[in-house]
Amino acid sequence: MTTITPQDPELGPTTDNSPAPQENSQVTPEVGLGSVERVRQRLSRELPPEALITDRTRLRTYECDGLLHYRVTPALVVLAHDAAMIQAAVRACADERVPFVARGSGTGLSGGALPHADGVLIVTSQLRTIHEVSPDDQRAVVDPGVINLKVSEASRPHGYYFAPDPSSQQICSVGGNVAENSGGAHCLKYGFTTTHVLSVDLVAPDGETVTLGTRAPDAPGYDLLGTVVGSEGTLGVATSVTVRLVRTPETVKTLLAGFRSTDDAGAATSAIIGAGIVPAAIEMMDALAIEAAEAAVSCGYPAGAGAVLVVELDGPVAEVDHEFAQVERMCEENGSFERRVAVDDADRAAIWRGRKSAFAAVGRISPDYIVQDGVIPRTALAEVLHQMGELARERGVRVANVFHAGDGNLHPLVLFDESVPGQGEQAEEVSGAILDLCLQHGGSITGEHGVGSDKAKHMPKMFTEDDLDTMQLVRCAFDPAGIANPGKIYPTPRLCGERPGRRTEAHPAQQAGLAEVF
Ligand SMILES: Cc1cc2nc3c(=O)[nH]c(=O)nc-3n(C[C@H](O)[C@H](O)[C@H](O)COP(=O)(O)OP(=O)(O)OC[C@H]3O[C@@H](n4cnc5c(N)ncnc54)[C@H](O)[C@@H]3O)c2cc1C
Repeated sequence: MTTITPQDPELGPTTDNSPAPQENSQVTPEVGLGSVERVRQRLSRELPPEALITDRTRLRTYECDGLLHYRVTPALVVLAHDAAMIQAAVRACADERVPFVARGSGTGLSGGALPHADGVLIVTSQLRTIHEVSPDDQRAVVDPGVINLKVSEASRPHGYYFAPDPSSQQICSVGGNVAENSGGAHCLKYGFTTTHVLSVDLVAPDGETVTLGTRAPDAPGYDLLGTVVGSEGTLGVATSVTVRLVRTPETVKTLLAGFRSTDDAGAATSAIIGAGIVPAAIEMMDALAIEAAEAAVSCGYPAGAGAVLVVELDGPVAEVDHEFAQVERMCEENGSFERRVAVDDADRAAIWRGRKSAFAAVGRISPDYIVQDGVIPRTALAEVLHQMGELARERGVRVANVFHAGDGNLHPLVLFDESVPGQGEQAEEVSGAILDLCLQHGGSITGEHGVGSDKAKHMPKMFTEDDLDTMQLVRCAFDPAGIANPGKIYPTPRLCGERPGRRTEAHPAQQAGLAEVF
């Protein structure tokens, strides 16, 4: 669940409508692992002065990521300029058993980069060099702080691009994409970040640098790279990323189709995928999301539509032409009453404008809103959307839907007005109940925004204790001291390497109810 306030270029002007921020000690427990002051002293000897932020006012700049609801001021920020600085920071933290949190651009929507009050925030956003673009083997080697879109811009002259395309791609970093295994509209066809990462240099939580993966397509042994992608900064800090580049398609065709209902649009989606066509993207917006987008960017979507689909096909001309005709026909057969085909790049951008503006646009029709991120099997789309509608009606809350229909990744926007007593809580309840619906239909509590601080409490709904313990064993193998982004992903922080009975008395963190023996 994400309470969002527009703050990035795509979202438009900043207007802080978020609920009152919380100093969230609950999700970043003060386990008192060591002395951050000793880390500060050591790093002030090892790093240039401009790499350290200790001033309280400047530290507050980093108190939250894109999830503004939770705020924690870090004890120390390291503005790393190169991999060696990251390693120095992690080594110092390891020696002092001080927690550290990696941060890229800070656009995460689940509080993954929420700092630790007694820890070090390691910011990678200054590491922005694209070291290599190699069309010969379709690879690029980039620093972790490189902005996603810059990889495509550097590759385009060679006829390639970087496929993972989160809506935040103008501002989010490749390191953040790796940590979150980020997706985007075109991941239906091309896969999430994990499909496009071949190798990562990682400063492990003990301060050693390891290289996981290779430039070659397959590496023997356990897939540790696959483990690290999507680990939300809990297994170390990525200092270099080798990515796969994808050939720019010969042609791209985009269709905007208006339907009377989300049922019809959902049926068209199922028909398209069921026919074996894999569009580059199928995005759906419901009536409320369309209303918001019209208010914000006048996107000219079909009047009276209860839902629209944006369907994009790319690839060889002959294949795209053939499949596009089928897609148009399937939309018509499933009740589409109006269709518009983009005639050129400008027209395509105009069609996408409504979809891309949707999150921010909701700010036009509601002072506050929660961005939820859940997944359901695509076949359950119609049923879940109905149940969500009923839930919203029962609770008197409006929910707008804009989502990746092709892979069932929902982004319900739960609208509320924080100034009305009780509405914030009501919206949070509805938002949580939507996740329950996703789970009841065999889905997931997150599609692409991660678990972070925000959804840790939902993990036991999806996983058994044994599942969580097994995940914890993996985490402990990388980070026995438990200093890498503690308090994230798991509902209760556990202490690696401890067994019941080994201690004569409870660990202080246990006594405080902040950790349990694992
Ligand atoms: C308007 C908007 C739209 C968005 N749309 C999408 C979308 O379509 N799809 C999507 O998937 N996400 C989306 N997001 C979420 C977010 O942009 C992504 O999760 C993105 O990948 C985060 O990148 P970042 O650099 O901002 O990471 P941060 O927010 O700085 O960090 C995110 C996580 O990664 C970890 N991390 C960061 N850098 C490193 C590193 N070098 N090594 C190890 N761990 C690291 C952090 O500790 C944290 O856990 C959106 C966000 C916004 C604000």
